[in-house]
Amino acid sequence: SGKWARALSILKEFEEKCGTPSSNLKQVADAMTVEMHAGLASEGGSKLKMIISYVHNLPTGDEKGLFYALDLGGTNFRVLRVHLGGKESRVVKQEFEEVSIPAHLMTGSSDELFDYIASALAKFVATESDSQHVSPGRQRELGFTFSFPVRQTSISSGTLIKWTKGFSVEDTVGQDVVGELTKAIERAGLDMRVAVLVNDTVGTLAGGRYNNPDVAAAVILGTGTNAAYVEHAHAIPKWHGLLPKSGEMVINMEWGNFRSSNLPLTEYDQALDAGSLNPGEQIFEKMISGMYLGEIVRRVLCKMAEEAAIFGDTVPPKLKIPFILRTPNTSAMHHDTSPDLKVVATKLKDILEISNTSLKLRKLIVEVCDIVATRGARLSAAGIVGILKKLGRDTVKDGEKQKSVVALDGGLYEHYTKFRTCMENTLWELLGEEASENIAVEHSMDGSGIGAALLAASHSQYI
Ligand code: ADP
Ligand code: MG
Repeated sequence: SGKWARALSILKEFEEKCGTPSSNLKQVADAMTVEMHAGLASEGGSKLKMIISYVHNLPTGDEKGLFYALDLGGTNFRVLRVHLGGKESRVVKQEFEEVSIPAHLMTGSSDELFDYIASALAKFVATESDSQHVSPGRQRELGFTFSFPVRQTSISSGTLIKWTKGFSVEDTVGQDVVGELTKAIERAGLDMRVAVLVNDTVGTLAGGRYNNPDVAAAVILGTGTNAAYVEHAHAIPKWHGLLPKSGEMVINMEWGNFRSSNLPLTEYDQALDAGSLNPGEQIFEKMISGMYLGEIVRRVLCKMAEEAAIFGDTVPPKLKIPFILRTPNTSAMHHDTSPDLKVVATKLKDILEISNTSLKLRKLIVEVCDIVATRGARLSAAGIVGILKKLGRDTVKDGEKQKSVVALDGGLYEHYTKFRTCMENTLWELLGEEASENIAVEHSMDGSGIGAALLAASHSQYI
């Protein structure tokens, strides 16, 4: 019928606009490299903040003792306790607990948010066994992984530039987040010092390096997306401090805010951005990360419902609710291998209250999921190539065999198999066979938390 033809034409147009041929991705990678240079040259020189992390010594394996970490980055936060045994014993024991953040605290006051976090931390500390106490007279020490853009002012302080990923706690912006946490820790009656403040990418890089000395960069694909890498300290013109002995400095790129005319932006992306808490910002993140993929799919389906009546004469009311379709749901539909697409039918019914869909229509919906995930995965691969180019590691020079490992983490990477596979395949496609031999991606499980604990150990007040 005419309506079905209209649905197909919306699909076709969407697919074309989302196109990411190799040639285009190479331009995206080049643009990323250019912006990296600009962001390192001067403060405010680029959409990429290229934040100096103050981490210039990555874990060696010698780290010893009992350390805590706190990882705040999305809808959940995690508290960790890690017993580090040095070169021989490595990670002797690690325990963690995950706590969800009630929605009202994500848009409330700073004190309320940090009090909630500190009291969960205090409860967790109370579960220390007798053998686990820190040595007498010693304060407990914590690595704070905070995955929002922070203007780092030292290894253990930094002011919040802005919230992302649905957080909007206005009175934290411009404050030292370590100060906010420390005050809340004191209010909770806990004796603990925040030894380091790191971004999750920096934590993941540290955790990755602990396990593999070839780790050169880390990428998070979770609720949001971001990357960090090890830069030569002398290649950071905006750094006016002393050059660290190691000659290295970890840079938190804040690549979620990357933007370039080469990005395949569609009307759906523009509408999503306009309706978001942070319009005009985090454009790369809004095309790639877990917070947004499901919402893009919803917007396309909504258009098809309005203009091609794919769900009947009226638009299903639930389909009009922003963010009702989450990425884990579109991922489940995308991976549906049943001949009659049972999972798709169930998700449509349970989430959108849509029943009686034809197989043909379910296939169309899977197509939409595929287009959105493929674009996101291919763009993230292009971003990684941009980093490797900046480091001069995207090509093999004089038959050199220097390995480069990229540590990856985040729920999207971990659970969305088709996304992950597509991202990795695109990386090999862009790098070519020869260079690919020297590059590896590694899942750095829970690296951000462990990494923060490792950095807390190497920045302990007792060494
Ligand atoms: P955060 O980024 O908030 O620190 P995670 O790294 O755990 O947390 O990532 C969580 C995100 O991963 C979710 O918001 C969701 O978008 C995505 N995700 C989780 N499970 C799945 C899944 N099964 N399929 C696709 N995406 C998923
Ligand atoms: Mg995280």
